[in-house]
Amino acid sequence: QDFLSVQNVTKSFGSNRVVKGISFGFGKGEFISLLGPSGCGKTTILRMIAGFENPTSGTISIDGQDITHLKPNQRQLGMVFQAYALFPNLNVGDNIAFGLKISGMPAEQRRARVDEMLKLIGLSGFEKRYPYEMSGGQQQRVALARAIAPRPRMLLLDEPLSALDAKIRVSLREEIRAIQIDLGITTVFVTHDQEEALSISDRIVVMNAGNIEQLGAPHEIYNKPATRFVATFVGQLNTIEAKIVDVAAKTVAIDGQTVHVSQLPANATAGANSLVTLRPEVLSVGAREGNDITLAGTIADVTFLGSVIRLRVALGQNILSLDTFNDQRTAPPSRGEPVTISFASKDLLALDV
Ligand code: ADP
Ligand code: MG
Repeated sequence: QDFLSVQNVTKSFGSNRVVKGISFGFGKGEFISLLGPSGCGKTTILRMIAGFENPTSGTISIDGQDITHLKPNQRQLGMVFQAYALFPNLNVGDNIAFGLKISGMPAEQRRARVDEMLKLIGLSGFEKRYPYEMSGGQQQRVALARAIAPRPRMLLLDEPLSALDAKIRVSLREEIRAIQIDLGITTVFVTHDQEEALSISDRIVVMNAGNIEQLGAPHEIYNKPATRFVATFVGQLNTIEAKIVDVAAKTVAIDGQTVHVSQLPANATAGANSLVTLRPEVLSVGAREGNDITLAGTIADVTFLGSVIRLRVALGQNILSLDTFNDQRTAPPSRGEPVTISFASKDLLALDV
C-alpha cells in the first residue's frame, strides 16, 4: 500500500479546471518531484496535499488515512515555500521552535530540538540572528529546519530553490537530498527545472496542463520519455521525420530506410507520420561498434563547451545535435566539413508528431 496516495483528484477554480483527474502513489521515504511548466497545477496539488485547498473531487490519503478533508494542522506535514516565508520578527531559534511551541513541547526540549536542527542544517550558533541578517540560502535552510522540527509525516517543498543563485541552488539541493535520505522522510518537491528534478528525485511525476504525462525514475523519464511533451521538456532532443511501417515489428521508415525502433507511440498505426528522436549523446562521429545505422552529412555548426563539443550536423532536411568529448588532442571539426555519423537503432524512440 502506498504511503501517499492521490486518487482521481480534480480541482477547478470557477469554470477553470486546473487539475484534471490525476492519480499517483508513492512509498514511504521516497523523494518525489512534481515537474512541469509554470501554470500546469503543481502548486495546486501540493496545496491540496497540505490542506490549503480542497479538491473538487477525489481523495488523498497518507499512511492509509483519508486526509482529504482534514485541516492543515491535523495532517502533520512540513512545508517550505519558494522564499521569504520565515517570520521576519522572530529570530532563527524562535522560527525553528514555532511549530514545537504550538504543539506544547516544554521549553527545555524545544531548545534541544532547535540545537539539533541547527546542527542538521549547518547553522549552529545562528539562533539569535534575524532573517534579514542572513542570505537567501541560509533563510531557506532555516525554513527547512522549521518544517522538519516537529517530525512531520511528510515534507512538501514548493520550488524552495528557485529564488537562489545558480551555485547555491545546486549545493542546497544536494544538502536537502542528503538530509532527506538521512531522516528517511517522504518528500514531495515541486519544480519547473528538469535538471533539478532529474538530479534530486527517486521518482518524478511529469505534468502538463493539469494532467500527468509520465511517472518514473529519472533515468526512465530521460531515456524512455512516454510522450512528445516529456521528450522535449526533459533534456535536449534530436527529431527526425519518419513514417510508421509496422506496429508489431516496431519499424519506421526514415529517408526510405526501414529501421527498428525501441518504442512506438501508444496509439501508433501503420502509415502514420511520426517523429523519431535521439539524444545528442547517443550519436557518434564515424562508425562505432554496436551502431547499425550510418549516415553521411555536413557539419553545420560547432559549439565549444569545454569538456564537450556540440556539433550540428545537416543530413538532408534534418539537422541533428551531437555531443563529442573534447579529448584535447584533435582540433574540433570546422563548419562545412563532410562527416559520417552513426547510431544504434535501439536508441531510437518514435513519438507522436
Ligand atoms: P504551477 O504551480 O504549476 O505553476 P499552479 O498550481 O499555481 O501552477 O496554477 C495552476 C493554474 O491554476 C494556473 O492557471 C493558475 O492561474 C490557477 N490558479 C491557481 N490558484 C488559483 C486560485 N486561488 N484562484 C484561481 N486560479 C488559480
Ligand atoms: Mg507553483
